[in-house]
Amino acid sequence: MSDESIPVTVAHGDGIGPEIMPVVLEIIEAAGAKLDIETIEIGEQVYTRGITSGIDDESWESIRRTRVFLKGPVTTPQGGGYQSLNVTTRVALGLYANVRPAATFHPYVATKHSPDMNVVVIRENEEDLYAGIEHRQTADVMQSLKLISRPGSERVIRYAFEYARSHHRKKVTAFAKDNIMKLSDGLFHEVFDEVAAEYPDIESEYWIVDIGAAKLADTPEIFDVVVLPNLYGDILSDVVAQIAGSVGLAGAANIGEDAAMFEAIHGSAPRRAGQNLANPSGLLTAAVLMLDHLGQDVAASRVQNAWLRTLEDGVHTYDIYTPEFSTAKVGTHEFGQAVKERLGHYPHTLPLSIFGVGGPAASSPPRAPRPRPVKQTVGVDVFLDWREGTPDDLAQRLRTANGGGLQLQMISNRGAQVWPVAVARSLLVDHWRARFTGANGAEVSHAQIAALLSRVGAAGLDFIKTENLCTFDGQRSYSLAQGE
Ligand code: NAD
Repeated sequence: MSDESIPVTVAHGDGIGPEIMPVVLEIIEAAGAKLDIETIEIGEQVYTRGITSGIDDESWESIRRTRVFLKGPVTTPQGGGYQSLNVTTRVALGLYANVRPAATFHPYVATKHSPDMNVVVIRENEEDLYAGIEHRQTADVMQSLKLISRPGSERVIRYAFEYARSHHRKKVTAFAKDNIMKLSDGLFHEVFDEVAAEYPDIESEYWIVDIGAAKLADTPEIFDVVVLPNLYGDILSDVVAQIAGSVGLAGAANIGEDAAMFEAIHGSAPRRAGQNLANPSGLLTAAVLMLDHLGQDVAASRVQNAWLRTLEDGVHTYDIYTPEFSTAKVGTHEFGQAVKERLGHYPHTLPLSIFGVGGPAASSPPRAPRPRPVKQTVGVDVFLDWREGTPDDLAQRLRTANGGGLQLQMISNRGAQVWPVAVARSLLVDHWRARFTGANGAEVSHAQIAALLSRVGAAGLDFIKTENLCTFDGQRSYSLAQGE
């Protein structure tokens, strides 16, 4: 452990934030954390000054300089025009991995089931449906673009394996839905298998997300580290925190190449604010993850073991208090004092350092660049806003656009083919896809596509977007319509 104090930016946040943050800082400093704290203001006070991002330039400057941010919860203002501080921070600092440990503390904190659960959910934090690329395309249809990239998937999956290795965990599991989303989730699965092969010392397994999620909720004790694309990770990390006991207990780390943000998973709980009621454990767990990340593992272990001992001794805040397991119902401040008094003590039965404190996950070794695949464009999907008739009527109008080496191959509605043979008849909406391919499988040029669009426009049809149909190394790299 280094003797140098490490600069860290701290924001107390809103609601219960100003009550729990001082308690957490007092505990970690008493445990020997060597931090040079810069305090900034975020959230409500900043939003009400008219700064829609919830953070001013000077505070940003601190975060950009320290690259380590311990963040209290923030109340998201109602109404439009405000940006989410979490999303802004994640994007600006490139925080690609969200790491959320969830464990049960049986028999000291009541849990509905699974007394042996000790799972770390690692969620990809930047891609998937969260890129925020959305469009209203017709009167009746909205689109969100789901983007999964090879480097984005590889970075978070590799992080998960490195985390497992450096935190003495045995297994990494991935969930996705590649039986349906064969290309996007298929890529995540493919990269998972490739990276897993480089870590023969760590067991790896893959589940389709629906059955995986059911298993995770039912028997979380069979999982260890779980790595997920953004949306599944968002949902399932809350599920595991909830089944572990209380949202008041869990903390999270958001990790980037050279920056990190740590926070409790709960919000600002405004109804509990100002009453010395809130449980500081979630933020304390976040602070332990931060000390671990900074290499201050001795202080991290001291804090975590004292906290586990406090839970064992039955000193509980209202949210985890039960007459059966607790000996005292205490407030935020008193809970903090109880942890501080137990620094240097160890839990009797709960596993030591339950979140596997033991140094940061090693940074990923660079991989040899992959050869670029040969890309060929073999057609184009033209999407149309149209509500004037049947699929046959549309095909008739589109046939006038045939030519220039392109031919209409099929039309689909809501992903299912409706022409030349209809497999979907139930509900047709105003959003159509017309697939044109090069005659006899010939390659298609941009000029041919541009000319096609101009013919489609001239036929009086409202095209809303196109997607090129490509092969990579001769492999079809677009989905077929249902029934195509
Ligand atoms: P919340 O997590 O703030 O509170 C939900 C309930 O959980 C509370 O009513 C309380 O009963 C309990 N709870 C939460 N934290 C607790 C703690 N430390 N100790 C004891 N009990 C605790 O969720 P919410 O009420 O939906 O959101 C309140 C505000 O927080 C909203 O403005 C929301 O947008 C924001 N929020 C912020 C973050 C963040 O900053 N990362 C995360 C979630 C919600």
